Amino acid sequence: MSSLASIACFIGGREVPLSAGFEKCDPATGQPSALVAEADDALVDRAVSAARGALQGPWGRTRLGERLAFLERLAGHMEANLAILVAAEIADTGKPVTPTTQVEIPRAIANFRAFAQIARADAQAASGTTFETPMAGGAWARNTVSRRPVGVIGIVAPWNLPLLLLTWKVAPALACGNAVVVKPSEHSPRTALLLARMASACGLPDGVLNVVHGHGAGAAGEALVSHPGVDAITFTGETRTGEAIMRAASSGPRPVSLELGGKNPALIFADCDLEVAIAGTARSVFDNCGQVCLTTERLFVQRPVFERFAAGLVQAAEGLTAGDPWAAETRLGPAISAQQRDKVLGLYASAKTAGAQLLTGGGALAVPAPFAEGYWVAPTLWTGLPDDAEICRREVFGPCAHISVFDDEDEVVTRANASEFGLAATVWTGDADRAERVGGALESGTVWVNCWRVRDERAPFGGFKKSGVGREGGRHSLDFYSEIKTLCAFQPAS
Ligand code: NAD
Repeated sequence: MSSLASIACFIGGREVPLSAGFEKCDPATGQPSALVAEADDALVDRAVSAARGALQGPWGRTRLGERLAFLERLAGHMEANLAILVAAEIADTGKPVTPTTQVEIPRAIANFRAFAQIARADAQAASGTTFETPMAGGAWARNTVSRRPVGVIGIVAPWNLPLLLLTWKVAPALACGNAVVVKPSEHSPRTALLLARMASACGLPDGVLNVVHGHGAGAAGEALVSHPGVDAITFTGETRTGEAIMRAASSGPRPVSLELGGKNPALIFADCDLEVAIAGTARSVFDNCGQVCLTTERLFVQRPVFERFAAGLVQAAEGLTAGDPWAAETRLGPAISAQQRDKVLGLYASAKTAGAQLLTGGGALAVPAPFAEGYWVAPTLWTGLPDDAEICRREVFGPCAHISVFDDEDEVVTRANASEFGLAATVWTGDADRAERVGGALESGTVWVNCWRVRDERAPFGGFKKSGVGREGGRHSLDFYSEIKTLCAFQPAS
């Protein structure tokens, strides 16, 4: 136990010595790798009080320019320490080093620069937020609309893209002048602690960014979202958890932003560039071991290209290198935990029971020592099931997809929309009119055409139906993390 890394909470600018904790395993080896603090109600209360105190101190009086300069300084500091962040993310998740170094951590850092730019542009456009109201007798009133911080923001984050999804919320929250209490996933605590340390080293006042570790229901997560001192709650995670968080937010009531699950479709039309569509779809199914909310799990392929598409995707799946996260050629990491692996394998079994035709994979993945005890699942593709089969309806969050055949456009749009989720969809077609028609008809927060997971921080992001409540991204983030205020000043007739 003493050789395990110790992951502490960070409250009021200091790490809190561990008094209670839980063991966390390295998903690539299945071996214990860290002892993580489990914040109790009293510690969560301390974190919320530290955040409140920070708002009453110098942070509460900062100007926008100072805050944005801080965000940019922090981005530079994180960049200089990129290798430390990469190593921490890999230790928690077993993700392969190449995408972690080239995509995930750089995007996490980019969130700070992007929201600094977004907030600056918003402030420059503020001239549009003053207007005059004519009144009787020549008098008038001047209305000035401005942003104020909301206060203490509770941020509850998932494990799949730990630092990236955390900074997506921390950056705009701080740009708007709030203080935050962050509850990272119990499976991925390391980079949140590093972020708090780095922010402190860059001069963020004590108490502005606090981290409490621990589990969700009945533990630190629930304590945070039920705390009456939290003024707004933002959450990314499962739809069921989102429902519980919305209930907790109703006492107050407090604003809540929910980024939830998906069961994302891709529509592959016969007129597309098939090689490009296969390569793009392979990324959208298997990147991050299928553990991205934007992952594609329902593939609809037009009949004339079905066989070629399916063969190409099977080849891509079978070409993925799994194993050592530190090997440059590795592309497939493990599931995050034994529980998540078992959930994925349970759904694989359900596909088999339902009579799916297995094209590749279908079970656990054998990886040689020292990774033999890791939480590996095989990249898997099936076909032949009806749209209402469990594997075609439930989010798996694993490296798998079901491939169905379709004949015409109206049919496939109806089938793609027949889901309780609506987070992201992808259309592969060579026909620009079709792309516009189909893209417009899909019930989905984001629709990509001939690409996947192209993200611009200025674009609104969120889900239709059970995939979320509200939008973040660009001005939408600023709106969520601000109280918007109107000052209405009477002006007598001159
Ligand atoms: P999860 O809901 O199990 O956990 C997310 C976080 O919520 C963790 O920090 C957890 O400890 C906490 N939590 C759990 N129960 C809680 C409760 N009752 N009160 C307060 N906090 C609680 O989700 P996960 O397994 O970590 O992440 C995977 C899910 O996240 C998938 O469904 C995926 O689609 C979704 N996701 C959505 C987006 C998006 O932007 N829409 C992005 C990434 C992941």
